Amino acid sequence: MDALNIVTLPGVTSPEKYVLCNRESSMGIVDDDVQYEMAKRSYPLMQKLLSWGISFPVDENGNYDLVRTHKKARYLVGMDEPELKTILAGKMKAAGVKVLNRTMGAEVLTDSKGRVCGVMAMNVRTGELLHVRTNAVILTSGGAARFGLPNNGNLYGVYDYPLNTGDGYCMAYRAGAELSGFEYTMSFTIVKDVNIPLLYITLTRGAELYDGHGGTVDTDGITIAKLQKVHMEGRSPLTIDMRHLSEKEVAYIEHILFTCERPACKRFFEGRGVNFRDTTIELWPTETYLCGGHGLAGVRVNPKAETKVPGLYSAGDNSLVARGHLTGAFAFGEVAAENAAQYCRSIDESRVPSDKIDSFIAHIDKRLAQKNNKIPIEECEFKIRRMINDYIAPPKNQDKLDRACKWMDQFYGELDTMAKVADVHDLFKILEVENIITCAKLAATASNVRKESRWIPWHYRTDYPNTDDANWQKHILLTMGKSPLDIQVSFKDPIRLDLVDPGDN
Ligand SMILES: Cc1cc2nc3c(=O)[nH]c(=O)nc-3n(C[C@H](O)[C@H](O)[C@H](O)COP(=O)(O)OP(=O)(O)OC[C@H]3O[C@@H](n4cnc5c(N)ncnc54)[C@H](O)[C@@H]3O)c2cc1C
Repeated sequence: MDALNIVTLPGVTSPEKYVLCNRESSMGIVDDDVQYEMAKRSYPLMQKLLSWGISFPVDENGNYDLVRTHKKARYLVGMDEPELKTILAGKMKAAGVKVLNRTMGAEVLTDSKGRVCGVMAMNVRTGELLHVRTNAVILTSGGAARFGLPNNGNLYGVYDYPLNTGDGYCMAYRAGAELSGFEYTMSFTIVKDVNIPLLYITLTRGAELYDGHGGTVDTDGITIAKLQKVHMEGRSPLTIDMRHLSEKEVAYIEHILFTCERPACKRFFEGRGVNFRDTTIELWPTETYLCGGHGLAGVRVNPKAETKVPGLYSAGDNSLVARGHLTGAFAFGEVAAENAAQYCRSIDESRVPSDKIDSFIAHIDKRLAQKNNKIPIEECEFKIRRMINDYIAPPKNQDKLDRACKWMDQFYGELDTMAKVADVHDLFKILEVENIITCAKLAATASNVRKESRWIPWHYRTDYPNTDDANWQKHILLTMGKSPLDIQVSFKDPIRLDLVDPGDN
């Protein structure tokens, strides 16, 4: 992390302004109320982080490192904190939070009235099953990063965090919550082969961007969509050039990339003999993925982080607080914690799970009995994700999306008959793959329903190439029917607040 992407600094911008900017960036398919709640909390959140010792550098005049990522407002504040996670872990420990490491949340339990009453989880090293009794659950397990297959062919070599396989989306969906935005199948343009970021880190600090013909790409108001257009037009590879920068400027960029962002960046560039002082850096589109924090795919929540299921909350990249990034995760983590705690205090009866515990254990036993199947689970995953690239990644059309749905139905069945589960590792991997398949069918279904193109290139349909505001200014909601692949579709208008634009800054 090299920035807190959304902070409405007083005197610079306002929560109202941010909500209006994000409405525009999301092309209207966004709920203002959750955005407003996040934006209002963003500055107090930054103050809290400062009080925890997290560093936000200032210049000689005491001004924060503010970067413009929207043409109408500046709300991205540079952060220089390689120890962010350690600091957060320390805070949790001090608060007395009990941490179950190496534990995969697998199923949210509900009672006969559909209210949350627990979680089933599994230790990924020993296979020990856990039944956690609770009246409230906050899902924070990110989006679906292992979704499309990256060009490098490495199952885990993805842009976003590779242990995120849409588990939270699927747990919420199976418990009865609503999902939305699954037609927003994202990808980034980022360092080729390693899929690590550096675009805003370098371009905002004086680097130049060139296309494959040697022409300069205008970086004023640059968006990933514009970069992907260059690629689609056959003018790639794009390259970042820092050769004209001073030693001090390059050294600072290296500091951010090799500490806050990811120490592995340093090894990667060294291994390839890339020194920013004399070599350019090649960019390429990443794999397709689903995310609420960078994109619009998530569990629907209200400004209290509540889902449709009593006692079930969602925050961060798992939730639909669209494009909230790290700020969304922090702010809605806080919102969810406050409300879940209050909700728990208001309940005095103990709730009894319906038959889900037995069915979960039966499912695990069924998977463990698959020792003699022939196909390693990694090969199943590779094939499924290759089909996601073929049929769900843009450009999309009805034929491709129909094929995607058909393949996902077939793969789900073949997980029983073909996938080998040799040990505990295979066991949790097959649970992840079940979720990848479910997310793929959800994305294909939503993409098929939205008969227009929007957020091009991410939802670009060759059979409906135009944006159709008259008919499609609405959310596509997905809920579970009789089984995970039986997807029910409904629609909802975006929630609008009556906000006044205070003008550009
Ligand atoms: C490379 C990169 C750089 C970024 N840089 C910035 C930046 O500079 N500024 C900014 O504002 N935003 C940035 N973002 C976005 C930001 O990182 C995310 O929005 C934020 O981390 C979301 O936090 P989260 O806790 O919701 O999800 P994550 O950080 O993805 O955490 C999800 C966690 O859930 C765990 N998990 C997954 N499945 C399960 C399961 N079944 N059971 C138990 N645990 C599970 C995972 O192991 C993971 O630890 C960046 C994102 C990426 C990918």
